[in-house]
Amino acid sequence: MMPKILRIENLKKYYPVLGGVFQRKVADVRALDGVDLDIFRGECLGLVGESGCGKTTTGKAIIRLHDPTAGHIHYFPSKNETDSSADIATLKKGDLRKMGIRGKLQMVFQDPTTSLNPRMLIKNIIAEPIKAQNNIGSRALEERVMELLRIVGLTQDHYLRYPHEFSGGQRQRIAVARAIATSPEFIVLDEPTSALDVSVQAQILNLLIQLQQKLGLTYLFVTHHLLVVKYISHRLAVMYLGKIVEIAQTNDLFTRPLHPYTHALLSGIPVPDVEHKQWRIVLSGDVPSPLNPPAGCRFHTRCPFAEDRCREEEPLLEFAETGHQVACHRQNEMDKLIAQRFGHKLIGGAVSH
Ligand code: SF4
Repeated sequence: MMPKILRIENLKKYYPVLGGVFQRKVADVRALDGVDLDIFRGECLGLVGESGCGKTTTGKAIIRLHDPTAGHIHYFPSKNETDSSADIATLKKGDLRKMGIRGKLQMVFQDPTTSLNPRMLIKNIIAEPIKAQNNIGSRALEERVMELLRIVGLTQDHYLRYPHEFSGGQRQRIAVARAIATSPEFIVLDEPTSALDVSVQAQILNLLIQLQQKLGLTYLFVTHHLLVVKYISHRLAVMYLGKIVEIAQTNDLFTRPLHPYTHALLSGIPVPDVEHKQWRIVLSGDVPSPLNPPAGCRFHTRCPFAEDRCREEEPLLEFAETGHQVACHRQNEMDKLIAQRFGHKLIGGAVSH
């Protein structure tokens, strides 16, 4: 296992809800409510879950686009994780810049149409983060921008154009060039392919894989698209209502999920085979409000296997096997429970007789 680049401990992000004549805080939206996560150098960690579960907020909090309410984000700047780390969650933004950490953590957003300034030339869009980090001459800056365009599969003909002159896939390449312009170590990829045509999605995924290998990057890949994340991720973390409920190697998670919520997500993936019998765990009800999350296990209001203990006691995220963590009181008996309920051994939606 590679050394850690980030260790996230009890990360919380609450957004205040204001009300009354004086617009005072009346409640909190608990978007993240105690996230614990280790991210290893050189890996792509997929973060999956339903819309509104806190995936994007996690990415934004890690790179300090949003300030965390509580918790720690330890960043290990060298390849030796025993060296001292910096706590990104508590450092002032000015200090992050002075210590050179700002440029080491970047993000690629979902929709390149809105994430690129339509009034700026491509050369300025890519040059902007470089100028913010370094005192660099105009000749060297131009060469660096040209090099970045080449790396992401564009040419020098694109240097003096505006974003609207490009296709969606090309715009996402420009967004990737801007993200790698400061030679980052860690990039949050927030649904980077979901706004693109299917034919272009594979090209962008392959570009991201090539860049990861070539530049030694670490990714947090945020998505709700399980097949996309299966293609690119080494490990997967599953999120539900502001908490991580399961983490495992991608293969393990797809072949032996332990949490009922992961089972439900995987059983929703369509199988392109008419002969294949597919069984689904259909979750009843909506995701509860993060304004007032359920006591005990947050999933108990939708879990087909909930018992009294689940309604009272919150399950901790613990190792069930090497490299496989899960937060469920009944994970030891999950295979049996699923077999009893569905009459089959159900693995990620596939039925094994
Ligand atoms: Fe379901 Fe209980 Fe496990 Fe929560 S702890 S996922 S309610 S069985």
